[in-house]
Amino acid sequence: MELLSVDDHITAIDHNLLGLPGVGVTYVVRGESIALIETGTSLTVPQTLAGLAQLAIQPEAVDHIICTHLHMDHSGGAGYLAAALPRASVYIHSMSMPHLVDPSKLMSSVRRAVGEEAWPLHGDFKPIPEARMRPAEALRLDLGRDVMLEAIATPGHSPDHLAYRDLKSGGLFMGDAACLVMDRWDLALPVTPAPAYDLQAQRNTIAHIQSLNLPSIYLTHYGAHSNVSFQLQRASEQIDALVDLIDRAISAGESDVATLAARWLPYPSDSPGGLVARSWSQMSIAGMLRYETKRRQG
Ligand SMILES: [Zn+2]
Repeated sequence: MELLSVDDHITAIDHNLLGLPGVGVTYVVRGESIALIETGTSLTVPQTLAGLAQLAIQPEAVDHIICTHLHMDHSGGAGYLAAALPRASVYIHSMSMPHLVDPSKLMSSVRRAVGEEAWPLHGDFKPIPEARMRPAEALRLDLGRDVMLEAIATPGHSPDHLAYRDLKSGGLFMGDAACLVMDRWDLALPVTPAPAYDLQAQRNTIAHIQSLNLPSIYLTHYGAHSNVSFQLQRASEQIDALVDLIDRAISAGESDVATLAARWLPYPSDSPGGLVARSWSQMSIAGMLRYETKRRQG
């Protein structure tokens, strides 16, 4: 566990997602009340709680647990955090709320999406009592001391994806809306997972975020970046390159996900970041292959 200072009122807890530093964070946003943004998986919750303890934040002091979308590295820890933080409400798009109340149908579809190699690193879900769930799509949350969070619809990566604008710093908690940027592993890639990835929606989302002229983006994977326009432009170019690779593969009758992922994102397999690179590139290839195949079928 490592703490990263983002702004006077924002700290990131690196909770060792997938067992590695530099991959995933939970953000702590402090006004008079305290919000967490993103939960990691069930397996990262102990590190997140250790981070809160190090920040001298009592469990009763956390009022809000906010997720950008339902994927397990963003909402998998929500049930365990809710159990440990007794006063906190949990926020996610209303279309995903039923799955956090009753996660039983979710696990098999997540397992298919993340693949067998990375699956054991994703933990599980703990059901959340419905009374503690709040819909997030129209969220405007006043934390006090001029700290305000505002939800922005950012579909594409997933249909339920929301980003949250911090009106005090102007920065955007962007989740996976456009791209991942993990400098420690020299990885920057868009993630386009099956089954619900929507290319056109993601292109619109990236254009919308670009139009906001943000001073910074706060990525779940990973950290704060102030070269916003560059990151969004690069994400768009990488998406174009991925579409191109997939279109050529479909025309050539190729559909082996591992082969295509290694072609798209060649990454040294002896590096500890290799698992992260393989897992997320395979997820992206599978999602784009499905999207483009369906599009061709009309
Ligand atoms: Zn995701």
